[in-house]
Amino acid sequence: MDFLVLSPPVCPPSEPPSGAFILASALCGHGYDTGFLDLSLEFYHRILTQHSTTPGVLRSVDYLSGTPQYDPMTHRSAAGTLHRAFKGYSKSHPGWTLTAMDLTPPAPVHQPSGLLRLLLTDDPFLPLWNATLPSVLSRYRPRRILISVAYLSQLTAAISLARFLERHGIEYIAGGSLLRSLHATGKGFNLLERTFHNIDVSNGANLLPGIEAGHFLDKLAYPQILSQQSYLSGRPILPLTLSIGCYWSGCLFCPDKDMKYIQMKTTGLEQFMASIPQHVLQQRPVIHFLDSAMPKNRLRAVMPIAKHFGLHFYGFARPEKRFADHSFLRELARSGCVMLQLGVEGGNDALLSRFNKGIHPDDAKNVLTGAAEAGIRTYVYLLFGLPGETVSEREDTRRLISETIDAVDFLNLSIFNLPRHCDLIHRAKEFNIILNKYDALADAIELYRPFKTTNSSESPRRAAREFITNRFTSDDRIRQAVLRTPKWFRAAHLALMNISGRN
Ligand code: SF4
Repeated sequence: MDFLVLSPPVCPPSEPPSGAFILASALCGHGYDTGFLDLSLEFYHRILTQHSTTPGVLRSVDYLSGTPQYDPMTHRSAAGTLHRAFKGYSKSHPGWTLTAMDLTPPAPVHQPSGLLRLLLTDDPFLPLWNATLPSVLSRYRPRRILISVAYLSQLTAAISLARFLERHGIEYIAGGSLLRSLHATGKGFNLLERTFHNIDVSNGANLLPGIEAGHFLDKLAYPQILSQQSYLSGRPILPLTLSIGCYWSGCLFCPDKDMKYIQMKTTGLEQFMASIPQHVLQQRPVIHFLDSAMPKNRLRAVMPIAKHFGLHFYGFARPEKRFADHSFLRELARSGCVMLQLGVEGGNDALLSRFNKGIHPDDAKNVLTGAAEAGIRTYVYLLFGLPGETVSEREDTRRLISETIDAVDFLNLSIFNLPRHCDLIHRAKEFNIILNKYDALADAIELYRPFKTTNSSESPRRAAREFITNRFTSDDRIRQAVLRTPKWFRAAHLALMNISGRN
């Protein structure tokens, strides 16, 4: 085997971790013999096996992994049962807290040296490495081992995995979007360099010499899956991306604004589709596009391919004017789009303009209603707590959602964090932002800066939280949309949710 891509715990067990899966697909697409091992999936199945006699656990696993279309309330109850089982992890591992998407250790997660110290005395991952890795390594003898770290929730296990490989004299390369983001826009990359002996943040370029940076995703093929375990999903969800960066690249708070926008060739998607094994195709997979935002012309290019392969798909779109084209949205639905993740962000034009979102609330409303009428599920992303956001601007957001509630299937309510690297940092004075220092640990990694604003004594984050709790969700129909949006297994399962009027 040329490459073995390892994804450490924990990532949600509902779909393959995107960065690792896409990397493995790209290596395969370029003709390399590549295996993909989702150690997080293995980790969760071990926990579930330990709880198999707990009432309701097996039934919930069967429901979540065997139902092609979920009923929102039954899904809620099944996910809740599993969540309670995951909570039991603390009993056998005091101080550790496990959910369906996170594992919090009894040490600050932003401090790699502290995590390393903790693992020297308390490493809950060792039994997993011992049970899974030696057999895979001796059977496939990979020439290169890649550890993909996309989320903070993986960092502790990634450090443990790196130590395990080092102790056995096995070389590895650590990479992934968390390490890349810290390198490009965060603080503390040097701390990671002390923890992982070999890091590569080239986004694939160093692995495939001769291929222009970013274009390694032009060729994709279904990788060799080395886990025998199934994902907790009624249909396989396959993450892919057709671009790096964002075609808009305008939002003042975007940490990735400097990233060059590169579109992949759609022939890579065709190549990937043609390579999916028959037994996966029989389960009617759904493609989860991870692009920051898919422009309309990009979706137009995907539509005939999706139709040809009978493919269902979903992904992010900016609800801008050119999307407010109902005949296009109907065509999009007919070609297999089952959900749009729409960054509506807010309902006040002046607020959106101040931060250069490039979206008008009237257009967002129009896109929402058009998508819902076409039968496409809508997953609406709202952002509260932008610096200087006023009560009446928040109210406009509430009003927008209230007026379009029949078209709002799921809601993602975020509270603004200020990235350490974005235009707002350089224009802090203009936006009345006072940049604070972390009073936390000096040797901690950081992607965000604490801040307050000069024109309010109140923290924007606290004000936003109070508004969401006391005002936004006081509208019964909005509360229903929030309740319909599961806390666990989010984007993967939402596309499979049975919503009246949607395809
Ligand atoms: S739409 Fe998202 S990715 Fe694009 S510039 Fe705005 S914040 Fe960044």
